[in-house]
Amino acid sequence: MPSTSPLKILFVSSEAVPFAKTGGLGDVAGALPREVGRLGHAVRLVIPRYGTIDGTAHGLKEWGRLAVPTAAGVISAVVEEGRLPESDVQVFTIGHDPFFARQEFYGEAGADYPDNLERFSFFCRATMELLLAFAKVSSWTPDVLHAHDWQAALSVVYLRSLYAKRPEFTKLRSILTVHNLGFQGLFPAAAFPKTGLGPELFTPKTLEFFGQANLLKGGLVFADLLTTVSPTYSREIQTPELGFGLDGVLQERKDSLSGVVNGIDTEVWNPATDSLLPEHYSSSDLAGKRRCKEALQRELSLPVREVPLLAVISRFTSQKGLDLVAAVLPELMRLDVQVALLGTGDPPLELQFQSFRMRHPDKIGVRIGFDDALAHAIEAGADLFLMPSRYEPCGLSQLYSLRYGTVPIVRKTGGLADTVVAYTPRTAANGLATGFAFNEATPEALLTTILLALRVYADRTEWTGLMKAGMETDVSWARSAEAYVALYRRTAEMPKRSKG
Ligand code: ADP
Repeated sequence: MPSTSPLKILFVSSEAVPFAKTGGLGDVAGALPREVGRLGHAVRLVIPRYGTIDGTAHGLKEWGRLAVPTAAGVISAVVEEGRLPESDVQVFTIGHDPFFARQEFYGEAGADYPDNLERFSFFCRATMELLLAFAKVSSWTPDVLHAHDWQAALSVVYLRSLYAKRPEFTKLRSILTVHNLGFQGLFPAAAFPKTGLGPELFTPKTLEFFGQANLLKGGLVFADLLTTVSPTYSREIQTPELGFGLDGVLQERKDSLSGVVNGIDTEVWNPATDSLLPEHYSSSDLAGKRRCKEALQRELSLPVREVPLLAVISRFTSQKGLDLVAAVLPELMRLDVQVALLGTGDPPLELQFQSFRMRHPDKIGVRIGFDDALAHAIEAGADLFLMPSRYEPCGLSQLYSLRYGTVPIVRKTGGLADTVVAYTPRTAANGLATGFAFNEATPEALLTTILLALRVYADRTEWTGLMKAGMETDVSWARSAEAYVALYRRTAEMPKRSKG
């Protein structure tokens, strides 16, 4: 019989909204613990105490101090305690100013901090010491330690090595979630002893990776279960094309690897209440979307008229397939459409988009920069959203687009393949289609799919069906949290693994 008893979960992450965020990791580590807590489980979250975190604003209070053993001797950690807003999730920050009181989290001016190995070894080691303190002070030991990305991966390794014999941890199991396999925490072999791990763990079966130390690999080898942020991406990372050299390790652990799609904050991203929009709308009353479109056209100095409006909000990189967008723009400029582009990234792409704007001011609006308010206005005002990514672990923008009735056109990869139901006459007739998808990462494939979408757009009944199906898709965290809880139970019931 499946157990329904409450679980105790410890999240370990180098970022979590609202304390610290550089990307999707921060969103997940801020939202998922809260949702898991809402399902009735006891959740604690550990993050570094960066200098940029405003302790007063977040209500952080000193909880205690830890003497953390490291390769460089004992280092003191100041632990502060707070709460994730609107939740019972306790947040513990690991402080050591020489490591974390800096302007950024991982590096400055495009260069990683040279002591990142020491910094995140310390963070993970302090997390283990914090768990020992919890056990001592309050007999609180989690059932599952849920680590995220390379910065937290060593906590899983420590659990199975330096702390393997601790009686407090006999029942503690671990999960590692990979948010983007492109980031692995690679360091020179000579620096490996700074982890405090013995040389027996610097082998090709453990943390060695083509002569370097690879922290993520350590987590992949030692965690009881592995997850990534979509089922398709969990299969793709087992291939040489998208495995970033770790496909072999992931294949070996394929029975322990699964994918859970991220959710979005459905309060911040809600067209019925979004305070950044000039008008509100919902799937049962779409009238406000037209006025959002007119406002967007004015904002981007485009003619205010009824014409299909295609949008992109993205980092301008080749991962996101923005070169494909640039390649189809000349064709698009020949059609009666408008295009809205918001983003920053590769300078040649930025220049290319701006030069299109100069030549076709009545057809394309371009904003170079990061602008959250405009991102909301575009999600609401556009008709179609382009996301031709070469790879995409999960992707958020297509989820916002679904919710805002802005039909996504995506490449069939990673989370894009898992979250958009591609249009075919049959999926449309069944009311299932929510967008358009193509396979090949080529301008031809993108253009063909845009042309198909424009034909469907001309049929208002069919198009409205697509919009509504997308808007009614469940993209909330609640659904993802249930999938994670099922994995926590599976891990908690696993026998202790004997070796990596
Ligand atoms: P990734 O994390 O790989 O960049 P995602 O689709 O998962 O891609 O998330 C991107 C997020 O960043 C979305 O919320 C998107 O709206 C936002 N975003 C990207 N570029 C910009 C920009 N220039 N201005 C405002 N928001 C942006």
